[in-house]
Amino acid sequence: TISLLLDGDAGQLNKEQDDFLKKGYEINERMIKLVSDLLNAARIEEGRFGYDFKDMDLEDFLGSLIGNYREVAKGKSLNLIFNKKAKNLPRIYADPEKLSLALNNLLDNALKYTPAGGSVTLQLGSQGNYALISISDTGVGIPSTEQQRVFSKFFRASNVIRLETEGTGLGLFIVKNIIRRHGGEISFSSKEGAGTVFSVTLPLKKE
Ligand code: ATP
Ligand code: MG
Repeated sequence: TISLLLDGDAGQLNKEQDDFLKKGYEINERMIKLVSDLLNAARIEEGRFGYDFKDMDLEDFLGSLIGNYREVAKGKSLNLIFNKKAKNLPRIYADPEKLSLALNNLLDNALKYTPAGGSVTLQLGSQGNYALISISDTGVGIPSTEQQRVFSKFFRASNVIRLETEGTGLGLFIVKNIIRRHGGEISFSSKEGAGTVFSVTLPLKKE
């Protein structure tokens, strides 16, 4: 309903009405994400996070995923790069919804924790029987003394709390669970003030 109003479907809005509605829209979206993250974390812990695996083409999948971020990146003056080091990779067997949830979380983080003017790179490569996806950024990084807690529930590093960024610290807990369930692994390396790289492996389908 709010987006219909914002689109002017019920008449032209003045600047103030538009601003108020936009704020309401954002807060509502944030609430939806929060409830959905809380539910997902609870489902994971109860073993009720259901999966629906399909045969998928990773290159196409990542291409359309990153397409959704072009606008946000532009708005924040970030350079968004898709680097395909491996082409014509074998297909993977994955749950597309869960995999987008995981990779969107990683891309969200990279964009959220990188100040304007920086860059975010999504890279697709391969390593033996695994596809290798990395998401790197030139952002604020994670302080080394806090890095061992990154995948725990509700963890948020001191530097991002200081920057007053939004978040609940559930994203990476969910991401790790999803990647593991696909038979893959997730790791990262980060330097405070310089940037972060998250690397994900996913098993390729055997011919
Ligand atoms: P949300 O649950 O809304 O995703 P969040 O982004 O704070 O909130 P996570 O995605 O789980 O939570 O990330 C946990 C913490 O790890 C972040 O708060 C931040 O401190 C750190 N972090 C994750 N990704 C990055 C990154 N790319 N650059 C810098 N810090 C990061
Ligand atoms: Mg996050």
